[in-house]
Amino acid sequence: MSLPASHLFEVAIEVELPENSNREPLEFQMAKWSPARYAVFDFAKNVQEVQAAAPICPRTDDRKNDQTRMTCRPVALPVTRVNDQTWRVDPKTNSSFTLSYKVFGNDLSGTFSQLDTRHANFNGGSVFMYVVNHKPDPVKLVINPLGVWRIVNGRMSNTNQREWQFPNWGIMIDTPTEIAPNWTINDFEVDGKTYHVVVHSFGDEGGKRAALVRDIEKIVRAEVAMWGAPEFDTYTFLLHFAADDRSGDGMEHLTSTQIIQPGALGEPDVYENTLGTIAHEFFQVWNVKRLRPLELGPWDFTHPANTRGLWIAEGLTNYYGHLMLHRAGIWDEWRFLRREAETINGIENAPGSKLTSAEEASLKASFLDRAQHIQSTNLANTSISYYPKGELLGFVLDLLIRGKTNGKASLDEVMRRMYDEFYLKSPNATYYLRGRGYTSEDFQRMASEISGVDLSDFFARYVRGVEVPPYDEVLSYVGLRLVKEQSREPYNAGISVMSEGESFVIANVQNGSVAEDAGLQTGDEILMLAGKRVTSDDWLRTLNRYKQGDRVPISVKRDRRTIQATLVLEPPEQFEYRIEERKDATAEQKALRVAWLNGDIRH
Ligand SMILES: [Zn+2]
Ligand SMILES: [Zn+2]
Repeated sequence: MSLPASHLFEVAIEVELPENSNREPLEFQMAKWSPARYAVFDFAKNVQEVQAAAPICPRTDDRKNDQTRMTCRPVALPVTRVNDQTWRVDPKTNSSFTLSYKVFGNDLSGTFSQLDTRHANFNGGSVFMYVVNHKPDPVKLVINPLGVWRIVNGRMSNTNQREWQFPNWGIMIDTPTEIAPNWTINDFEVDGKTYHVVVHSFGDEGGKRAALVRDIEKIVRAEVAMWGAPEFDTYTFLLHFAADDRSGDGMEHLTSTQIIQPGALGEPDVYENTLGTIAHEFFQVWNVKRLRPLELGPWDFTHPANTRGLWIAEGLTNYYGHLMLHRAGIWDEWRFLRREAETINGIENAPGSKLTSAEEASLKASFLDRAQHIQSTNLANTSISYYPKGELLGFVLDLLIRGKTNGKASLDEVMRRMYDEFYLKSPNATYYLRGRGYTSEDFQRMASEISGVDLSDFFARYVRGVEVPPYDEVLSYVGLRLVKEQSREPYNAGISVMSEGESFVIANVQNGSVAEDAGLQTGDEILMLAGKRVTSDDWLRTLNRYKQGDRVPISVKRDRRTIQATLVLEPPEQFEYRIEERKDATAEQKALRVAWLNGDIRH
């Protein structure tokens, strides 16, 4: 990282070939994507100046070998780019050689990397090539920090560490690393395990740091209380408060998490949003990092991973992330229930809910997970995210199990038993990690076993199918009900809009909507509605003065021409959901609710 303003990381990969190996050419590859961000990003696009040379000379910081270094004269080896992500090196007669390259990184995120004058922050998948067919090999990482910059990651054995030994490439890239002159660290302990809260703030913290660390500890305690002792001695929360208002991300790892929170800690909402991300990412210490769908590790980085289980891995984590804020004492009962009602609002008002199931959304992750689309897509009408959809399935399944077993079992228990069976007690299925991955069917079987109910109908209708989950029925077990009301502004004609300079244009037209019937299209600039000029702020108010059956004239600009059309309003389609107490809630139902919210099981 000698030139931070260039954003160019300098990487050298030293390869030692086995004695008597046949010196075949070796291939080096940049991953097309990296774990838990399923969209394809082709990290090779930022690689430049790939070179190879032999033999390996002692590094400049290796004083003992100064003499050898002076006399060591590496000779260039030919490097051939084989395809978009692969480079081939012929070692000739050499038993070792170095492949070196630069990689551009200027994104602070849980997937990409950033080198600038403030810091170096990397996620290994976007920086380090692997040797094809040798991902299982042990790998040593040496970092040469710039000047007085200090290194920190989730696998530190001492504070001045510059070298790491990893069992394989997959574990190396599971270790995001921060190198900067001015990050700070706070520690706490829970049940003999040490937790580090590393913070690099680019904005004002408003004196909230001490409270933040205390609240993170509460979340850790709540999640450990559900799962039992985690399988590590130390864990690191690597937090950035990115004052650029652009960067925002959270990524889970085996012994750490990389969290980038937009804004500054001292600003409104940033504190609460940070805790929400913490509760989600720390839950994934268990759910997804260790207890994982079959397809999630080791990975083939030449094409996207395909799994039907992301609604479990990410969606159930979303549910528990919210529930844990309550169990940690940060959210009260109604704050949690309001949050779940908001998710119901989002999912049940989305047209994609009628077309894409939770399992199919998981399989479409590479199109959905922050994927960029230059080609126009209809995903806004056809898709939903496995995060909120899985969250609601977790919510419903938990209440269903608690209701059917009268509080004797819960989704918590399903998760614990899954962790036990597939992580702790299964023999290692691969070199990468303990245990083996589960299938969707494994999860269904475990949930059925623990609830004592055959859930095949439930999974067919709500997990693999697109029927609306039985929210109201399961809420009644705990003395609650779901209220569905027509929205205050129930009409949007199936249009969503975005501002474009001074004007506002149609961003999406729902299939089968009033706007589609009127011939309106994406990209149309809305000029007048009902004979008056409207803006992106007041067009909905104007439209909602009309009711079912009314004909509302609209004029839009398309291809430099003004077009007149008529919106013929149909029955209202936008609804608002809220969760409230049932008037007839019994003491028994209320007790079941308390047990659910607190994570208790009744005997
Ligand atoms: Zn930093
Ligand atoms: Zn997640």
